[in-house]
Amino acid sequence: MNQHIHCSVDNCHYWEQGNRCHANEIMVTADTIGASMPDDLDAPQASTLSPTPVQSCMETCCKTFVEKGSDKIGIDGVKKI
Ligand code: SF4
Repeated sequence: MNQHIHCSVDNCHYWEQGNRCHANEIMVTADTIGASMPDDLDAPQASTLSPTPVQSCMETCCKTFVEKGSDKIGIDGVKKI
């Protein structure tokens, strides 16, 4: 479990009781990038992506979010721990 990521998005596949994220890694990015990146591009490829500055927290998103029960779980290489 990632002890340092707290998240209240409880319909995410990686969310667990106590508002904890159980993804083995996550990627936070700019909203505009999150909306345009393919679903299979995520934290495992983060080091290859260009930095994406924003002006406020409202312009950021968790790219790793995937809805519970989705058929897209796992296609990005992120694992639940
Ligand atoms: S992957 Fe992102 S949205 Fe999902 S529980 Fe972790 S931090 Fe929250």
